[in-house]
Amino acid sequence: MRSEPAVSSQRLHRAEDRPCIEPVQLSGVAGVTAPRLDLERSATGSGGAPRVPVRIKDLKAKDFRAALAGGEFSLAYQPIVSAATGAITGCEALLRWQHPFLGPVSPADFIPPAEETGAIRPIGAWVLEAACRQAAVWPDFCRVSVNVSPVQLQDPGFADRVVAALRASGLAAGRLELELTEGVLMGDVAVALEGVAALRALGVSIALDDFGTGFSSLGYLQRFAFDRLKIDRTFIRGLGEARESWFLVRTMHDIAHHFGMAVTAEGIETEDEARMLREIGATELQGFLFSRPVAGAVATALLSEQAHRLRSGEAGPPAKSSDHPVP
Ligand code: C2E
Ligand code: MG
Ligand code: MG
Repeated sequence: MRSEPAVSSQRLHRAEDRPCIEPVQLSGVAGVTAPRLDLERSATGSGGAPRVPVRIKDLKAKDFRAALAGGEFSLAYQPIVSAATGAITGCEALLRWQHPFLGPVSPADFIPPAEETGAIRPIGAWVLEAACRQAAVWPDFCRVSVNVSPVQLQDPGFADRVVAALRASGLAAGRLELELTEGVLMGDVAVALEGVAALRALGVSIALDDFGTGFSSLGYLQRFAFDRLKIDRTFIRGLGEARESWFLVRTMHDIAHHFGMAVTAEGIETEDEARMLREIGATELQGFLFSRPVAGAVATALLSEQAHRLRSGEAGPPAKSSDHPVP
């Protein structure tokens, strides 16, 4: 019998994209820095900088289209590991935007205006295609998780787009997981339900992301048959400190279990958190403790290494790799 890697939360990778509140150097505007969350930029027009202030929330669909056409978007991939073995079972595709003047812009900042302008549709289509193409070169044991905006799911043609991305890449439907949030309940629920059913019929799995952070009643868990529940890191954070947090996470796990859903705990940063999640019975773990989001090529190298170790029957946790920059 093939031996599994030993249980470990050994960090797979340390490279990280910049923290959200790191000051950003404005390209072409000497010596000017601005806090990342203050997204208003009063660039002067020198050195190629824009002549008008750029505010992320004021971006128009055409700005996003230009960024897409200009190749300013890329994907980083964050490994997700088995709670039992520590082996990588999947990678989550996370969108990155390198703006020519603003520098790296966080998805938490640009996804909302992209949704408001409808630009999330072409951007989301690009993410889906790129992530499927990337995963198609990975070993079969690794799935790819793609975040899908509720706006995309409101499009009746969305399932067809997924089929097209799978066909074009050659990726098996069973290796694609789509992550939805409770936001799916804000639009036309019937359309969303239909979309989810069509995708699951294809063999694509559906995860409920950021569980517990929205304001929805739990009734939708019965209507949307999710395959996986992702417990948000806000709940993981308090695990070691307050007994109440432990009960909350335990209850979320039990709900998932009773609905036949797997559980991924997100945002794990400490060994203690990982240990508690294993004791609670989480299926998979994801967080900086194991790996930061990494470039596609780095994820590919980590997976090849793991495939090699599995083939040679080597026991032990996934190998540690050196740091690489993230796109
Ligand atoms: P998410 O889908 O819940 O993704 C997890 C976020 O938590 C990522 O932030 C990831 O870098 C971060 N994270 C992972 N492990 C840890 C940890 O241990 N500690 C901490 N502090 N953070 C951790 P990121 O990449 O900034 O993405 C933020 C959100 O933007 C995502 O949350 C998702 O809702 C959205 N997003 C990212 N890419 C896409 C995309 O392609 N399409 C759509 N619609 N949304 C996306
Ligand atoms: Mg996600
Ligand atoms: Mg999440």
